Parts: sequence; structure tokens; C-alpha cells
Amino acid sequence: MRYADRVAGIPWERIEAIRKELAAWTALHHIGGEFVPSETGETFPTLDPSSNEPLSQAARGGAREVDRAARAAHEAFARWSRTPARERKRYLLKIAELLEKHADELAVVEALDTGQALRIVRAQVARAAENFAFYAEYAEHAMEDKTYPVDRDWLYYAVRVPAGPVGIITPWNAPLMLSTWRIAPALAAGDTVVLKPAEWSPLTASKLAAILQEADLPSGVFNVVQGFGEEAGAALVAHPLVPLITLTGETETGKVVMQNAAQHLKRLSLELGGKSPALVFADADLERALDAVVFQIYSFNGERCTASSRLLVEEAIFEDFVAQVAERARAIRVGHPLDPETEVGPLIHPEHLQRVLGYIRVGLQEGARLLVGGEQATTSFRGEDLSRGNYLKPTLFVGENSMRIAQEEIFGPVLLAIPFKDEAEALRLANETRYGLAAYVFTRDLERAHRLALELEAGLIYLNSHNVRHLPTPFGGVKGSGERREGGFYAFEFYTDLKAVGLPLRPPHVPKFGKG
Ligand code: NAD
Repeated sequence: MRYADRVAGIPWERIEAIRKELAAWTALHHIGGEFVPSETGETFPTLDPSSNEPLSQAARGGAREVDRAARAAHEAFARWSRTPARERKRYLLKIAELLEKHADELAVVEALDTGQALRIVRAQVARAAENFAFYAEYAEHAMEDKTYPVDRDWLYYAVRVPAGPVGIITPWNAPLMLSTWRIAPALAAGDTVVLKPAEWSPLTASKLAAILQEADLPSGVFNVVQGFGEEAGAALVAHPLVPLITLTGETETGKVVMQNAAQHLKRLSLELGGKSPALVFADADLERALDAVVFQIYSFNGERCTASSRLLVEEAIFEDFVAQVAERARAIRVGHPLDPETEVGPLIHPEHLQRVLGYIRVGLQEGARLLVGGEQATTSFRGEDLSRGNYLKPTLFVGENSMRIAQEEIFGPVLLAIPFKDEAEALRLANETRYGLAAYVFTRDLERAHRLALELEAGLIYLNSHNVRHLPTPFGGVKGSGERREGGFYAFEFYTDLKAVGLPLRPPHVPKFGKG
């Protein structure tokens, strides 16, 4: 079905041509500057979430491909880590430019592969380019740290050096944006990379490798191994030539990776799941709060780590506010990712749809009150048949914080509203979770907002706003949502090794052992 002459500025004919190309294409590994199949020749299909028909295929890598990629990254590290920062900066700027040049193709491929609405993905591709442009500016400063003059006798300084090849393991929800957010600071810092994208949306990783090749990035500096988590992912975590691992994924995966990485004492950056609360007080700008909480849970098909999936609302306004959320949730346009009017598209995979539907059943069994949705969407807002895709109606429950649907990450368009009496109860409920990625507070009381910002157990706090990412600021969670921070200079704490250098400025007193 043709929805418009152009979607997100991309001509419809171009979209169709890209879709056709994908059917005949295989997302290969990129190792040591070459695109290669698996040694076994094995591939796996990637599905179009709107129909569950094969969209394209990817090479199925394992320990052998990871070993070749790790060796390539290790060899390239010797040169890349010594490449002048100004040159690395030029590469990053070139990559940013090329990402913009190929943005239409990348956006269409990503939208088809993930089921995210094309106009939203188009903005994410722009963010991917920004990630490189942003870290290009940091390349010449990545090694900076403090000096420590001690009286006039000693000078100590701290200096950073590239830390080595990094294994970057990414999830399926926003693969290009999330991977570039790690690749850019890694390359800026002089590290080389082996990327292992998620098996449910592998396509743009290989497209990205082609773009980095077009930028003439030296071979081996950036490598991709396609494949499954337990095969390619686990092999990457276990490889002795890759001392750093950054994983973005589920909390349970984080635990497994941490255990496996412990065998090699690897440095880890873990960006994991979330069950973030939005606290809405009666004195808030309720129109803004409504827009923000609806967007924060239902955008990106609800497959968003920072989604505010627990809506805590002050008792005095609870019924009224939740009724307004329900009205908006009911009116959300569920449709095809290529439809320019679509607000919620299909979930990534039939297995994930079943998982989310399973949680809806759990919610009902637990006694949560279902206000909206709760079932598969079989027709779009235009009346098209959606029954073959993984579409879910935006769902809203009222329940309690102790329920499983309040405590476990669902990663779909499912919101649970919970009433609270006062600030103390709101804070207690907000923090009663094993996660700690984000928290959102809506109130006009400035003191309360800042008080809560300090008390809420989360790495990211937004006051009277949805999540608007600012790249220089730290990003990451506490508790089960992970550890370490990415973003800005904070990323270099992971991608570099810190050294302290001491130099006496006049002859120091050295005890003369052995001189009697
Ligand atoms: P996942 O944990 O299933 O997979 C993530 C990646 O880990 C995939 O590439 C997978 O192949 C790999 N993997 C799986 N098992 C592995 C193993 N044993 N060893 C090495 N690698 C392994 O997560 P997902 O379902 O792809 O993504 C959704 C999750 O990601 C959600 O929990 C979401 O909250 C989280 N997420 C977090 C952030 C953040 O910044 N905190 C951002 C986006 C998504």
C-alpha cells in the first residue's frame, strides 16, 4: 500500500526500491575491512514485523568469526591508537557527513527491520550522525585529565590512553542510534571496535560498516559480527583480545555477561532495563504532564528503555488524570511503520508480542483494572488488516506497585497507573523497584522537584519534561538498570585507561639502601 508520495521526505519509489533490494541482500560480517559470510555459510532470516514475512537475511556468526574480528581489531589498535587525534576527528566528521548522505536508506532499512515508524526513525538516524559529529569535537580532548602540583617539588598529572579493542553488544529497539552512541566515543578515544548487533534487527549494522568503509576508515578499526547472543555475543565476551565490553540489553543478559566477563576481569559498561516512574502531583501543569506521560510510554512502540511505564498520580486528581490518559491512549493511531500518520507500529517479533500479551494476562490475573487496549490490534486507524503483524493496542491498567506488571519490564506500549497520597508515598513507590534508569516528576513546586531529584533512585531525572537527551550529560542507570555512564566526557572513563605520572621538580630524597 502506498501511503504518500513521500514519507519523512523520502520518495515512495525509493522506499519500494530499498525494500526490494533488502530481499536479495544479506547482512554480512565486516572483518578486517572486508564483508564476509560465515565460515559455515549459515544465515538467519530477519522478519518484517508488520507481516512476519522474511525481510532480509544476515550471516550467522560464532566463535570463529568473533576470533577473526577480535584479531583484526587487536592488530588495528596498534595503529589507530597512535593515529593523531586531529586525524581521528576528521574521520568522525566524514562519517557524520556520510550518515547524513545515506540517511534515507538507513532510515527505511531500520524502520522495516524494527517496525518503528519511519518518521521517528528518520530522526534517530539524524541522531546517529550527531553522535559522530559530537564526539569528533571531543577527540582532541579525550586524553585530558587533571594535574596535581605538590608545593614546588613535585608535579603529578593524570593522563588517559586508549584502552584497547571494545566489544559493543546492542539491543534491537534502536540499533543504529544506540550503537553509534558507543562507536563514536570509542573511535574518538583511539579504540577499535567489534560490534555485535541484536539478531532481531541486524541490518543497519552492516550498512553502517559500508559507510565507515566509504569514509576510508583503516581496515580492522571497525568490525561487525552478526549472530545470536549465546553464540556470537558470548564468544565476544569471552575473547581475550577484547578487554572492554559494553552491553545494552536486558538486566538478565547483563547478569550473564557480567559473570562471563568476570573470567577475564573485563571492564564492563552495562546499560540495562528500566521500569521508570512518572510522578504527577496535583499542582503540576497537567496538560504538559499528560502529553509527556503519554509520549513517554507509547512512542517507539513502548520499546524504550527510558519509558515511564509506571504512572504515579496524586489521589486528588487520579481518576480525572487517568481518564484523560485513557482517552489519549484509545485515540493513538496504530498502523504501518511506513504510514506517515502512524504513532505506534508493530512490536519487533512475534515472540516479543507473545511476551507482552503474557504480561497483560498476568496483570488481569493479579487484579489490575484494564482501562484501554490489552489485546492485539488487528486493524489500523485506516481500517487496514494488521492481523499478520505484531501489533498491540496501546494498553492502560490501574493497579498496585507490588504487582508483577509494576515490577517487571514489559518493553511494550503498556502503562500501569498507581495512586499516591502524598510526596512521601510517591517517593517510596517510585523507589520500590529493582530498576533505576529514569524518573520523571511533574510539579510546580520547585523545592519539591529538586528534593525528589536527589531522593529518586535513578540515573536520569526529568523535571516537568519527557526525556530530551543532551549528549554532553551522563547517561545510565543505577540498581538493576546498569552501571557506568556514557555521554560527554563520562564515556571516556570507560573507553580510556587512566594513568598517574609523577615527576620530581628538584632531586627527591631517595633512601640509600645498601649504603650502610
Ligand atoms: P537482550 O538482552 O535480549 O539482547 C541485547 C544484546 O545482547 C543482543 O545483541 C543479544 O544478542 C546479546 N546477548 C544475549 N545474550 C547474550 C550473551 N549470553 N552474551 C553476550 N551477548 C548476549 O535485549 P533486547 O531484548 O535486545 O533489548 C531490550 C532490552 O534492552 C530492554 O531490557 C531495554 O530496557 C534494554 N535497553 C536498555 C537501554 C539503556 O540505555 N539502558 C537502551 C535500549 C534498550
